[in-house]
Amino acid sequence: MPCKRCKEFYKQYPIQENGYHHLKEGPFLVASAPIKCGFDENGEFKSDNWGCRTLISLRYIAQTSVCKNCYYYRDDLVTGTLCVIPIPILADYDIEQSGFIILAYYKERGKTDIGVVIDDEGVKPLKLNTAEKVLEYYECKLKEANDE
Ligand SMILES: [Zn+2]
Repeated sequence: MPCKRCKEFYKQYPIQENGYHHLKEGPFLVASAPIKCGFDENGEFKSDNWGCRTLISLRYIAQTSVCKNCYYYRDDLVTGTLCVIPIPILADYDIEQSGFIILAYYKERGKTDIGVVIDDEGVKPLKLNTAEKVLEYYECKLKEANDE
């Protein structure tokens, strides 16, 4: 069961006869390999992913100024890229997990190798509910910041 954002992406950019999504970039059409959602049928992170729209959006949000306590580190030669995103505690959002979302990947490539949540009990797979709600929260803050 792919995430909402991957489903929307497939609707907007269905796979064409050549096996690729055709994305519009200005006046051009760009062929993109099929994206693979990063969440399994139980709504848990799976490492067999490529370009999952929810994961890519989280990776992006970690680099924005609205994610003040987020951490983003990229080193293409030694360690790869790491994002740490604190999970806010908010009554309105009903987020399943607490603690920190940790994402690890190489450069800005489509595959997210690691997607976990760390809390005071240990390391758990990132859940789709957590990813979507946290994203909603930070995107709302980003929109507010851009409207100011
Ligand atoms: Zn997805």
